[in-house]
Amino acid sequence: MLLMCTRRCGGDLFRALFAEVDIDSGGDYQDHRIAQPGFICLNCGAPALDLSEVPAEMEAEAAADEPPAGADILCPVCETLVQVDSGMECPNCGAPLEVA
Ligand SMILES: [Zn+2]
Ligand SMILES: [Zn+2]
Repeated sequence: MLLMCTRRCGGDLFRALFAEVDIDSGGDYQDHRIAQPGFICLNCGAPALDLSEVPAEMEAEAAADEPPAGADILCPVCETLVQVDSGMECPNCGAPLEVA
């Protein structure tokens, strides 16, 4: 886990918002668990982000944005089959291609 304030205020203390804390009959802290991820910066009160989970989420989003592998489109001018990732111009006749 690598928490960081979303306002980048430099605070390094955070509070878990949805932690369940176990106490004994005398009220002494025994244990806790995070019921739901969610943290705030104790310095400025802004939400905090767990940086260790961000790269995985961004990778998943990037993968979803990529066109399916091997997607070809036909040039409307010379009818050459063009790979979508090869640019927006037909390599054969230079006609601009619209990727749907
Ligand atoms: Zn902060
Ligand atoms: Zn062409």
